Order: sequence, then C-alpha cells, then structure tokens
Amino acid sequence: MAGVTLTNVTKKYDEVTAVNKANLEIEDKEFLVLVGPSGCGKTTTLRMVAGLEDISSGTIEIGDTVVNDIPPKDRDIAMVFQNYALYPHMDVYNNMAFGLKLRKFPKDEIDRRVHEAAEILGIENLLDRKPKQLSGGQRQRVAVGRAIVREPKVFLLDEPLSNLDAKLRDQMRTELSKIHNRLQTTFIYVTHDQREAMTMGDRIVVMRDGFIQQVDDPITIYNHPANMFVAGFIGTPPMNFFDAKVVKEGDKYYLDGAGSFKVLIPGGFLDKAPELKDYNGKDVVFGIRPEDLKDASLNPEEANDDNSFMASVEVVEPMGSEIYLYMTVAEHSMIARVEAQSKAAVGDNVKLIVDTDKMHVFDAETEEIII
Ligand code: ATP
Repeated sequence: MAGVTLTNVTKKYDEVTAVNKANLEIEDKEFLVLVGPSGCGKTTTLRMVAGLEDISSGTIEIGDTVVNDIPPKDRDIAMVFQNYALYPHMDVYNNMAFGLKLRKFPKDEIDRRVHEAAEILGIENLLDRKPKQLSGGQRQRVAVGRAIVREPKVFLLDEPLSNLDAKLRDQMRTELSKIHNRLQTTFIYVTHDQREAMTMGDRIVVMRDGFIQQVDDPITIYNHPANMFVAGFIGTPPMNFFDAKVVKEGDKYYLDGAGSFKVLIPGGFLDKAPELKDYNGKDVVFGIRPEDLKDASLNPEEANDDNSFMASVEVVEPMGSEIYLYMTVAEHSMIARVEAQSKAAVGDNVKLIVDTDKMHVFDAETEEIII
C-alpha cells in the first residue's frame, strides 16, 4: 500500500508544457480522479507516475521512494488502459496470468491470484474464453483483472470505461468503486467525464492547460469551485454566468445586470467575503447553477424584487422528473432546471427565482471566485 506524491512536476514536449509544476499528495488507499478537457495533461500526469514518460523537472514518490529513475516494471503499479489491450489468441485465464508468468511466479501462486481476481470481478465462468467471445464489459473486467493479479501498490486507470456504452459505463462505474473498496489500494483514475469524477472520486483534481485548478472532494468542488473554469466544467447542465456590476444602494449591495436583472447579495455573503464591498461599481461575473433557479409561477410566495428576473423561453426539454428550460436574458443564453409541473412554453417570458444563498460571484478579470 502506498500514497503518491508529486512535487513541482513538469513535463515539456518541445514548446508544449503538458503538465506545469503539479503538486499533489495522493493518500494511501485513496480513489483520486484527474479530470479536465482534452489536452489538459491528465494522461501525461498518469504516464509520468507509471514511468512511461520521463519527467522534465520535479519529483514523484510512491510510498517513501523517489521513483523518477525507477523503470515502470519496478514501480509496483499496474495500469488499465482505455483499449484493454488483451491478447486475442489467449484465453481469459492466460491473459490475466501472462504478466505473472513473465515474472516467473510459481504456478500455484499464479493460479491463486487469477482465481481470486476472477472471483472479485465475477468472471470465474469466463476463464477459458477468448477475448472475442466476450462482451465489452467483460473484456474491461479482464483488463482490470490483469492489473489486480499483480497486487500493485497503486492502480493507474486511463479512461477505462470510455469504450463502453452509456448503460454499461454506469454499471462498471459502480463496480470499480466496489473493487476499490474491496482492494483497499490507491487508485488514480483519469477521465474527461465530470460525472464519472463526481461519482467515483474521494477527491477530484481538475486540470486545465497543464495546470491543476483545484483539488477537493466532489461536494466541495461542486459547492465551492475555485474559479469560473471549475464552476463551468463540473455540473450538468453547466453553471450560468452573467456579466454584472456590484452596486450599492443604501446599505445593500446588488448584482446588477444592466437592466436585465438585479439580485440582492445576501448579508451573509458580505460577512463571509467582506472584500465584495470593494467591488462596488466594478465588473464581476454572477454565477448560478440551473438547479438553483425556480419558476416563480409555481412558487409565487417566494418571489420578490430582490431575488427574481425575467427570461424568455427558447426551448423546453421535459426530462420526466424535471424540465430544462433553455432561455435568454438580454440575448445571453442560459438554462434553468425547473419543476416538472412548470407550464413554461416556447416564447413565454418567465419569472425565475434565484436561490440567492447558492449563487456565486467571480472576479471578472481573474475569473477567480470571490464567494
Ligand atoms: P485527452 O483527454 O485528449 O487524452 P489529456 O488531458 O490526457 O487529453 P495529454 O494527453 O496529457 O492530455 O496531453 C497534454 C498536452 O501534451 C496536449 O497538448 C498534447 O498535445 C501534448 N502531448 C501529449 N503527448 C505528447 C507527445 N508525445 N509529444 C508532444 N506533445 C504531446
């Protein structure tokens, strides 16, 4: 068992800096997810931990050992790739046993490990099948099994579910979480899918353009995103952003959208982030998640001048348990997730109530969160 520590880890490919001074302390037995859009440096980070890429500068430790110069095979890690890479001519048993045979493990030890892994994965009845006789999900289990038999200190998984259809992906997601619980080993998992990150990770690392943006547990990332990028990347449909100014009227502060909305900043926000007052007259960005808006016609007693604004409906998307309204406010697109009972129709002007305790304010220039 081991944690993994990255200290100022940088990877440069000629003029591209794929990973820029990454600092990360991954705890023993943790399920850590690296997430971010294509090209943000997640795979490169994982491959450096695996030893498949040299590090341009910095150090990586696995347990107490600096592994910068240790070859992949001696790092006590096992990697599961997106494309499984099973040997087509070998049956499942031999696909799983192959790495151990190469390492000259005794036959009975190989047998014990393969059967144990097969039992964990529920594939004991498939051991004599060839990969082409397996479904996508079963192949994925074999690929995981091949990693389990190694009994590594750290599992590295690079988008292992991306070749599966949506339903199977959901199922395998739960299974991988269960396998992690059962093995009690450190998992580092790369995905571009924020839902996968939110549901699987003990902690999530959000990356962008080679830089780590935020490292936190899923709920903290969701409720307290560090900046507009994280706020917009985590959550579906994404957070709405509106240009606004902070304006002071009497002793109250508002987010003013130049006539399209004016929302009171709750007193509690000013207590928690008194610097908001310094933004008086300045540009900020108002952020509100689609689920933190309500259709005022269903909740008339909650609406008032300080917490609501009008938006025009462009598309209505009923989801069964709720409705997504694609709307515009002064030609700016936005989305609201409202109750299924909403009668809002295309072309309507609908009054929306903002759950002001859930709104966010960002610095317009740095895009960092103020509150
Ligand atoms: P994806 O989700 O598309 O796999 P990623 O977040 O895993 O993306 P990386 O594969 O780590 O991103 O790539 C990070 C950056 O480094 C990208 O700009 C990529 O083009 C660049 N890069 C990756 N590998 C190489 C390489 N071998 N040579 C040159 N540039 C590379």
